[in-house]
Amino acid sequence: MIDNSCQFCDDIRSVRGGENIFVFRSESIVIIADFAPIALGHILISPRDHVTSLANASTDVRAEAFRVAGLVSEAFGLRGYSTLMAEHGTGESGCPSNACCEHAHLHLVPLNFAGVEDRVFSRYLASGRQPLILNGVDELVDFEGRSYNLLQPSDGILYV
Ligand SMILES: [Zn+2]
Ligand SMILES: [Zn+2]
Repeated sequence: MIDNSCQFCDDIRSVRGGENIFVFRSESIVIIADFAPIALGHILISPRDHVTSLANASTDVRAEAFRVAGLVSEAFGLRGYSTLMAEHGTGESGCPSNACCEHAHLHLVPLNFAGVEDRVFSRYLASGRQPLILNGVDELVDFEGRSYNLLQPSDGILYV
């Protein structure tokens, strides 16, 4: 499904740019370089369909997004970088998150500069919620339709 007012949907259909904004494309997801990277190599992994969070995406799409995120993290790892993974799922349509746009996207940030992890974590904690630890991405489905912040710092633990 496409949302005509969504910048990401425009990008995914290459309305504004060429084909070369994509780092990677599969049937259900795309990887785009972040528009305002906080570190070199900062990318966004996004479902092609307009959903407001990965919790609202289908099981297959969510699994594909995290599978690809794992592969990219491994590749960064081979270059000596640990990776921060974060999503600020907006839940209901029209409910803005604290940054970016409401089309679901997973941030992947290689921690190649000191302090990036702290900066992102502090922004996350500033939302005022007590973080919960998830046993796996499948548990994200409990947050369907709600706003949340998902964070996986380099310790590998998944927080919501
Ligand atoms: Zn969209
Ligand atoms: Zn974002």
